[in-house]
Amino acid sequence: MTVKTRQTGHNEELIPLRSIPGVNVFQYPPAMPAGPGAKEQFAGNLALTQRLAQGEEFTMFVSIPYCKVRCNSCPYFKAKMPKGAGYDFLDPYVSALETQMAAYAQTERFRSGTLAAIYMGGGTASLLSADQVRRIVGFAKSAFRTSAGMEITLEGNPSDFNRAYYAEVVSHGINRLSIGYQSADSDILVDKLGSPHNASEGLRSLQDAIQAGFRTVNVDMLYGIPGQKLEQWQRDLGIVIGLGPESVTTYSYIVYGNTVAELRIRKGTLDAQIDDDEKHRWYLYTKGTFEDNGYVLYKKGHFIRPGHPQAYSDLSYRVGTESLGIGAGAYSFVNGYLFMSVGNPKKFTTDMERGLFTAADFQSSQANTDARMAKYLMHSVATGTIDVQEFRVMFGTDPRNVYRAIFEEMSAKGLTESGDGSISMTDRGTRWQQNIMSAFYHEGLRRA
Ligand code: SF4
Repeated sequence: MTVKTRQTGHNEELIPLRSIPGVNVFQYPPAMPAGPGAKEQFAGNLALTQRLAQGEEFTMFVSIPYCKVRCNSCPYFKAKMPKGAGYDFLDPYVSALETQMAAYAQTERFRSGTLAAIYMGGGTASLLSADQVRRIVGFAKSAFRTSAGMEITLEGNPSDFNRAYYAEVVSHGINRLSIGYQSADSDILVDKLGSPHNASEGLRSLQDAIQAGFRTVNVDMLYGIPGQKLEQWQRDLGIVIGLGPESVTTYSYIVYGNTVAELRIRKGTLDAQIDDDEKHRWYLYTKGTFEDNGYVLYKKGHFIRPGHPQAYSDLSYRVGTESLGIGAGAYSFVNGYLFMSVGNPKKFTTDMERGLFTAADFQSSQANTDARMAKYLMHSVATGTIDVQEFRVMFGTDPRNVYRAIFEEMSAKGLTESGDGSISMTDRGTRWQQNIMSAFYHEGLRRA
């Protein structure tokens, strides 16, 4: 496939809007946890004895919290796979996942709803054997009522994948694969990121994935990595677009505090990152390149071929359906409460054996209408468009009536433009996306 490339440039003056509160609103647009405490009595708040409305959809996130290594700047790492451990190491954990699913499936609430999307992530979900994937998917399908053509995503690392594995998981119902490709450059992968895979493993597993028969293959890529040059990023884009996956998610790399990456930058053994304005220029180049090659913007940094939306994300974040987090460290959203199940996988497994299936490390206060409106708008800003009509249907009012001052300020600063029934972020608005999301932020969502 011939890949169309374009020039960078774009030196427009950028306008600060306001400072951003200390929360990562882009990663976690749903309500943020409000307080610690694994309290089993919290289960009463979840109204598990109440039925959901007829046909009401919910989603499920299945957490596999283990990784082979800890990458150089990872905020999600929970537990390392013991050296030399085989697939059977995860058998008790998979049994604990089944126990938790079975407990929810027996409640009135989740017996009456319809499971519409499953996302198996981590950690590293590809540490599961294909047979363990079959167990989890099969258990979910038999325990819950499911929608026709339910989206089931498996996320994983290229070094765990091969053709036989793909063929098996496709036959077990995985119809969306999300592959942590990150970069086509081994030095970036191994030295700068500390990733468990190298460039040839990444390329081979991506080529095989595209041939394997998934409905959608999504490729995760990183830009703005310390030491990464624009030409390397352009080459990465050319390779991935040339292979033609249905979906590509590009993430701006973040150096988190107290990580190997931060330490190396402080010691001078790793280059500092490019600044935010330069990252934005790379982003505009990226967006333009995808659009020139037949992709559409789905969410900031996420580009799809038409017809390949992500049901899990749409339902969980925009529509705001309930969501069950299955496994250690997984987030659930039930009856307006956001909570994170116990993060330690050993403790999680023990809790399931003891029947503590709603035990949580963090739990939020109940999201009221204001918080739900904020959540909807923050996610919409991430997608680049606010659907005014959908907001009206969901909340019975026009968002510009509720947030008049914010919308007027954004319009005056050239951050948004109004269209037919929608409000879209301009390129300048995309640069200040975090600020705009924070403008809609509701105190009820704040971590205590
Ligand atoms: S594999 Fe993913 S979750 Fe695990 S340490 Fe690396 S970046 Fe973090």
